[in-house]
Amino acid sequence: QPVIVAIDGPSGTGKSSTSRAVAAQLGLSYLDTGAQYRAITWWMVTNGIDIEDPTAIAAVAGKPEILSGTDPAAPTITVDGTDVAGPIRTQEVTAKVSAVSAVPEVRARITELQRTLAASTEQGIVVEGRDIGTTVLPDADLKIFLTASPEARAARRSGELKGADVRSTREALIKRDAADSSRKTSPLAKADDAVEVDTTELTLAQVIECVVTLVEE
Ligand code: C5P
Repeated sequence: QPVIVAIDGPSGTGKSSTSRAVAAQLGLSYLDTGAQYRAITWWMVTNGIDIEDPTAIAAVAGKPEILSGTDPAAPTITVDGTDVAGPIRTQEVTAKVSAVSAVPEVRARITELQRTLAASTEQGIVVEGRDIGTTVLPDADLKIFLTASPEARAARRSGELKGADVRSTREALIKRDAADSSRKTSPLAKADDAVEVDTTELTLAQVIECVVTLVEE
C-alpha cells in the first residue's frame, strides 16, 4: 500500500526542503504543489491575462498543460513543454500567485492534477502545499502542518533570495499568507488531524528527522 504524506503550512517554514528530503530518504515521490500554482501564474502573466480579473483567469484556466516530475532528487516543472523551474521563482510571479490561485477554476484544475499524480504513485508520495491535508488528499496517511514565527520565516526567505531585504520580504510574505488564508476556496489551513510542528527553534535536519519518525510510526 503506497504511503501518502501531506505537508502543509505557510512559506518560509522549510516545507519544500523538508518534503524533498523526507521523500528522498524514504524512497517516495515528491510533489511541490506551489510550483504548479506558480506555473499557471507564469502562463497567465506571459499570455497577458489580467491578474485582477478572476473571470478572465477562469476562462483560460484549462489551457496550459502543466507537468510535474516527482523525483525528489530532481523535481521538474514544465508548461506546454517549456521548463519553467527558473521563471516561476521571480518576484513578479511570487507577487501574483495568490490572486491566480484564489480562482476556483484554477484550484479545480490543479487539484485534479494533484490527485491524479498521487493516485498513480507505486511507492508513495510526499505532497506539499497549503490545502493538501484539508482538501486535496483528506485521506492521507499522515498530515503535517509546519509553522514558524514570522521573523524566522522572513529570515529564511531572505537567505534564499541571497541578501534581499528582510523587512520587505517579511511584509510580502505576511501579505501572501494573509491572502492564502482568507480566500474562500480551500484556504491555507491545518487539518484537524494534522500534526503541527513549530520549526522556529529547529534546524532543517531536526525537522526532517521529526517528520521521518512520524512517517515510520
Ligand atoms: O509553496 P509556494 O510558496 O511556492 O506557493 C506559492 C503559492 O501558491 C502560495 O502562496 C499559494 O498562493 C499557492 N498555493 C496554493 N495551494 C497550494 C500550494 C500553493 O494556493 N496547495
